[in-house]
Amino acid sequence: MGSQTSTLQLGEQSHRRFNPLTNEWVLVSPHRTQRPWQGATEVIPAAKKPEYDPTCYLCPGNQRAGGVRNPQYSSTFVFENDYAALKRDSPPGRMDLADKGLIVAEGEAGICRVMCFSPRHDLTLSSMELPAIEEVVRTWTSEFSELGAMDWVSHVQIFENRGEMMGASNPHPHCQIWATSSVPQMPSRELLAQESYFKKNGTCLLCDYIELEKREQVRIVCANEGFIVLVPFWAVWPFEVLVCSSRHLGAMPELSRREQSQLAEILKQAVSTYDRVFDVPFPYSMGFHQAPTGQPHPAWHFHAHFYPPLLRSATVRKFMVGFEMLGTPQRDITAELAAERLRSLVTSAK
Ligand SMILES: [Zn+2]
Ligand SMILES: [Zn+2]
Ligand SMILES: [Zn+2]
Repeated sequence: MGSQTSTLQLGEQSHRRFNPLTNEWVLVSPHRTQRPWQGATEVIPAAKKPEYDPTCYLCPGNQRAGGVRNPQYSSTFVFENDYAALKRDSPPGRMDLADKGLIVAEGEAGICRVMCFSPRHDLTLSSMELPAIEEVVRTWTSEFSELGAMDWVSHVQIFENRGEMMGASNPHPHCQIWATSSVPQMPSRELLAQESYFKKNGTCLLCDYIELEKREQVRIVCANEGFIVLVPFWAVWPFEVLVCSSRHLGAMPELSRREQSQLAEILKQAVSTYDRVFDVPFPYSMGFHQAPTGQPHPAWHFHAHFYPPLLRSATVRKFMVGFEMLGTPQRDITAELAAERLRSLVTSAK
């Protein structure tokens, strides 16, 4: 790209953008849309949720499907998933039929935990008080440290599916924590990209990227001293954002007490902003990408991805079908317009 950049009219003409973290491309077709939020937005009456739901398997004191009863917890609560996708005693081993690399499988061991953010059934990261979200950050940190210290664990994935649209089976505020014996596909790709960038340039890919974004000032949504939220240049989902630590660090255990608070603050601000886009609790899948565990990965830069599916209103979602499934993901609204829209809805998290 380089000097070519200035000749492209990114806001008007179709083009494709490169994602340096994954080595993938996204097709952008800005001519296909006017500002999408100027259309009518349906207002979905928010069903008032109770503080406690006797039928919820995550509320304090309730019995889970596996028969275990939750304690009367008062802040965060972590338990091993009763129907875990992975088991810690799954044997390792590899098969490669006829050594052709065509029919290949590897044993995968793992631990799947569920973490409730709060005993309150009706709260979310946007409505919880800051000290309670700080407690969530501290619990994430201790879970990451504990699981990451296991000698067979290579990666710890913390992720939240919010809203029925994203397949969340229960509205009680919670996330999942999966520790795995191998580094999963996405972080593994990002590790390769960050390491080869470091080898080539002697600097960190995301540190350098953040510097460029700070200079450009068009895709930043909000920031505090410790963190920055932006719509990445290569975003695929309409209102996708990337949350990066300002300081170069690999994982939560390296966060200072102050940065833990700043992370809590920026998350509350980001999710509250999302909730104002269409005046509904914004559905999303979000997750932290932290350095793989077990050995040092100095090129890794701590970050989180938010992938929300909503496009034009509370009910119109983006689907990844057709050309996107077979060719390249595509978007109409540019990352710059999405950032502008989000930025206009940011309010203080305090
Ligand atoms: Zn509940
Ligand atoms: Zn960095
Ligand atoms: Zn990532």
